[in-house]
Amino acid sequence: MKTDSLRAAIRDVVDFPKPGIVFKDITPVLADGKLFRESISLLCETAGGVKIDKVVGIDARGFIFAAAVADRLGAGFVPVRKKGKLPWKTRQTAYSLEYGDSIVELHEDAILPGESILLVDDLLATGGTAAAAVKLLDELGANIIGISVLIELGFLAGRAKLAPHPVHAILTY
Ligand code: AMP
Repeated sequence: MKTDSLRAAIRDVVDFPKPGIVFKDITPVLADGKLFRESISLLCETAGGVKIDKVVGIDARGFIFAAAVADRLGAGFVPVRKKGKLPWKTRQTAYSLEYGDSIVELHEDAILPGESILLVDDLLATGGTAAAAVKLLDELGANIIGISVLIELGFLAGRAKLAPHPVHAILTY
């Protein structure tokens, strides 16, 4: 199976960044040219052949995958960033994640109403981060084709927060 070698490369780091969290370290995937390319191919397939105008990536590991997917699909790339990083006029929303609280922002002119969007992140845990990004995208009138992640922590049921949008995970734990 294509995904077996990806799964084998992902490293569990226990008690990072806080006790009780098992952090899924994707850096071994990034460091391996074949695995990184394969992960991007699989994420691109989740678009199902639909024409994507912009791939939206979530700060910070999501950028790595989203930018490569955007390039491969011939789409633009748009960053959703943590508070205070974007220089232009922003929309923002607060959310809670598996290990803390945060605010994410999007440039208000980053997406035009009706544009087809694929939202990409490295990992879906509680779904709070992706739901915050979806809220911002909905406010701008985006046509969200789907939310695609390399890793889904299925036991946290994050995808329930993203309904009715389709969620695609390459690997589920
Ligand atoms: P959540 O909002 O709970 O779905 O958290 C998702 C975000 O936090 C993603 O951007 C991940 O990069 C990061 N994250 C949460 N939990 C983990 C974990 N166990 N391992 C690696 N990254 C995580």
